[in-house]
Amino acid sequence: MSAGRFAPSPSGDLHVGNLRTALLAWLWARRSGRDFLIRVEDLDRVRPGAEQQQLSDLRAIGLDWDGPVERQSRRRNRYDAAVARLQDAGRVYECFCTRREILEAPTAPHHPPGSYPGTCRGLSAAERDDRRTERPAALRLRAAVAVFAIEDEIHGTYEGPVDDFVLRRGDGVPAYNLAVVVDDADQGIDQVVRGDDLLSSAPRQALLATLLGTAPPTYAHVPLALNRAGQRLAKRDGAVTLAELAARDIDAFELIAGSLGLAGTTPTELLRTFDPARLPAEPWVFDPPRQC
Ligand code: GLU
Repeated sequence: MSAGRFAPSPSGDLHVGNLRTALLAWLWARRSGRDFLIRVEDLDRVRPGAEQQQLSDLRAIGLDWDGPVERQSRRRNRYDAAVARLQDAGRVYECFCTRREILEAPTAPHHPPGSYPGTCRGLSAAERDDRRTERPAALRLRAAVAVFAIEDEIHGTYEGPVDDFVLRRGDGVPAYNLAVVVDDADQGIDQVVRGDDLLSSAPRQALLATLLGTAPPTYAHVPLALNRAGQRLAKRDGAVTLAELAARDIDAFELIAGSLGLAGTTPTELLRTFDPARLPAEPWVFDPPRQC
């Protein structure tokens, strides 16, 4: 199977920027004859009712999807199995560092602040026993490489830093980077279209896919929506959700299609003229209408 996907976190309402990314993921998948799947990333940050609202907003802009909606909370055994495989391959170690210790430690050259410097990589069994009495361990990947390259339809070959990133948090919750990779592989997803805020995570995820024996997907990290001040669009910017725009008589679909340089009233109509090569390369600046 060959599929694309949209994978929202049910932490609140989708705004026009999220809906625009969802529409792009749909267009990319359908244009290439792929299935389109929805996966709810509900391991963390769940707001009651948000999932239903998100799905209803996706439907309202005319998106359809194949098969039932998948939820990460149902897939814990798959993440555990992937960690166990990596453990068997000697690629996992326990880490007892606090966030603060990591930020205060010197990072390896060319790695961004917050990258894991490998503090717990070489702990002895006795040291680990000792540290376990202080706090539960997170599990980290022994990455063994400092950079990894991915193929991106917008950014070309993109090589980015990779550190010994977390696979399972100290509280036992599977880390986002692990869950995404396991899900994409299990669901036959070979095309990932999402916001370019996640471009720097892609090398980690592609490395992990490779270590788990699957080919990384092809990526397209699309420009985000920004507010007038040039910051990432957020709910606090005002009229940005479907309901808020509808209350001001603004057709969100038309607005989004226009921002992509496309004309049409349904996603299927947009497919006729959608061409990834002609997608605006710049972020979409959206100035939410003010309440009169
Ligand atoms: N759940 C993530 C988000 O809402 C997206 C993850 C992904 O597309 O890989 O930001």
